[in-house]
Amino acid sequence: MTDFEWTRQQFDLPEGMIYLNGNSLGPMPRASVPAMTNFLTDEWRTELIKSWNTKNWFTQTNTLGDRVGHLIGAGAGTTVVGDTLSIKVFQAVAAGMAMVPERRVVLSDSGNFPTDLYMVEGLMKLKDAGYTLHTPAPEDVMEAITEEVGVVMLTEVDYRTGRRHDMKAVIEKAHAVGAVVVWDLAHSAGAVPVDVGGFDTDFAIGCTYKYLNGGPGAPAFIYVAPRLLETVEPFLSGWYGHEAPFAFDTDYRPMPGKIERMRIGTPSIASFALLSVALDIWDKADMGEVHAKSIELSELFIREVEARCPGLKLVSPRDPAARGSHVSFAFEHGYAAMQALIADNVIGDFRAPDVMRFGITPLFVNEADIIDAVDKLERILEEERFKDAEFQKRALVT
Ligand SMILES: *Cc1c(COP(=O)(O)O)cnc(C)c1O
Repeated sequence: MTDFEWTRQQFDLPEGMIYLNGNSLGPMPRASVPAMTNFLTDEWRTELIKSWNTKNWFTQTNTLGDRVGHLIGAGAGTTVVGDTLSIKVFQAVAAGMAMVPERRVVLSDSGNFPTDLYMVEGLMKLKDAGYTLHTPAPEDVMEAITEEVGVVMLTEVDYRTGRRHDMKAVIEKAHAVGAVVVWDLAHSAGAVPVDVGGFDTDFAIGCTYKYLNGGPGAPAFIYVAPRLLETVEPFLSGWYGHEAPFAFDTDYRPMPGKIERMRIGTPSIASFALLSVALDIWDKADMGEVHAKSIELSELFIREVEARCPGLKLVSPRDPAARGSHVSFAFEHGYAAMQALIADNVIGDFRAPDVMRFGITPLFVNEADIIDAVDKLERILEEERFKDAEFQKRALVT
């Protein structure tokens, strides 16, 4: 049984803050400070370059990859961490295109996170081979999976609305028409149970700084189906993916048959120390129980907001099974209302054009937080505090 009192205690949240933004940047585990101090003093300062061997720096891409993989249903040896998610989008889609070289359509959806679409645009330009990117509305994706499509690249949980694709159904249909599937699990890993191995997706990618609480700029991950490890093309062919990195050959030869071939170059080892202690908390949590609790808290939140905050309109699916672990409401004065809420120490965020977004993260958010947050929101609306001049100015990051 997941002890949610215990997991809550593992995070060092500022006194009085209600943090409903763990879907965007997870909070800091208490163990982060000693872990970073240890990394600096016992590893970098003391062992210096020896640490690559003595502190296993070189293999952390894989040991941490396996630990992240465990949370998404990936078997050992199929997931590595490193680089950023944008890079992993490029890497996975490029590899997917090469598996179906005669097809020229990449299918995504209009709700995908822009960087995923931008990276594919750049990749298509580089290939200069008549590719097109289709982005139908999320609800039209299933019927758009046709024999024209080479790669289906979708984000399981929509970053704005929380709408969740049916992963299993998409994979089955895509494979039936001979397409390759890339899932972006940025808003799934640590949010909802995922079974990349059981559903037999070709690729999965994601980041570890959202629900996994790995810290700002924490490494991304990539999963490759075991059946592809022998043949998958690592187009970003860096020395870290080479068969023998320390042979320093002038020619690239990918690591045969292993996920190492999807590594690129020297990763941010300092951030690995932070990811490791964040995953220690996840080791004590059951993903099914975390999801069940997320549904309970989300239902409470939706009920309270709808009862007490007129003007806010639910844009997330009402059916919990069709939703990730964040809840979004549209509101005409959404940006200013969110700024007022943040000033009251309830942290959510805003996504253009009018969406107030709240991450529901049971590892450190409980029922009392949900009620307190809605109390504050209700008062802001009653007092029309969103009209205050101080809440109108747009910050660089929303
Ligand atoms: C958060 C997120 C990203 C961010 O990519 P970075 O390279 O880490 O900046 C990309 N795609 C999706 C779907 C996301 O939710």
